[in-house]
Amino acid sequence: MFQTKKSLGQNFLHDHNISRKIVNSTNPQKTDYFLEIGPGEGALTQFLLPAVSKYLAVEIDSRLIPILSEKFQDYENFKIINSDFLDFELSQMPTNLRIIGNLPYNATSPIIFQCLENYQRIQDLTIMVQKEVADRLSANYGSKTYGILSVFLSVFGEVKKLFNVPPTVFFPKPKVDSAVVQIKFQNEFELVNKDIFFRVVKASFGKRRKMISNSLAEVVKELNSEIPSDFAKLRPEQIKPEEFVLLTQKILESVKK
Ligand code: SAM
Repeated sequence: MFQTKKSLGQNFLHDHNISRKIVNSTNPQKTDYFLEIGPGEGALTQFLLPAVSKYLAVEIDSRLIPILSEKFQDYENFKIINSDFLDFELSQMPTNLRIIGNLPYNATSPIIFQCLENYQRIQDLTIMVQKEVADRLSANYGSKTYGILSVFLSVFGEVKKLFNVPPTVFFPKPKVDSAVVQIKFQNEFELVNKDIFFRVVKASFGKRRKMISNSLAEVVKELNSEIPSDFAKLRPEQIKPEEFVLLTQKILESVKK
């Protein structure tokens, strides 16, 4: 029997109904290109492969590559790369990419950031995450869990929590509840300079209790710009996602040439 590794977040789904439900929630079409993050033993893969024409799995654990390659040898569309998803060049992928995965819980945030960095290539992201993380991702302005990811996701996409999943359907059983979340990216237009926007939001929440005048001091110094006076005394949780866009635009407008 396969020896799972806790360090790789290997809790495999052992319930066909849930696996099918997750795949069906994406309404896969023959013309779709799906990328699966961490296929494990193929719980989702088995339902996805017959439904789509293009499929690529990115799996970090080399022991799983021969297992999956044998299991899905009859599928011409099955392709797999042995790589850490965080090192995978999403920017080389075609646009309208659809991503699916039961994510390793210890790497959820960096994986979502990696997708966000490439949001213009991605149509949607259907992921299983820890239930608390699902709540954080869909947190609105004003809630306790409002933070970096909720700001990014609300500016670049739309988050929907689909359903909860109990620990009993996994082996080994995780200690926490899970939930499936779907993120649809808004990738038709560029709202704001993405890199500067990311820096502004990350630096603001990096010092959550401090005023923007303090937390963004370094960023504006580097840009040779200024902090807009109407934002200077605010703390990050007082700033709505669309106001972060405005803040970034104002910082960029005041760059001294
Ligand atoms: N999809 C399978 C399922 O539902 O049973 C496995 C899910 S398991 C929670 C997470 C999977 O992601 C494991 O197969 C693990 O080896 C893989 N994984 C962990 N970290 C990864 C990373 N950084 N890049 C790619 N795959 C990773």
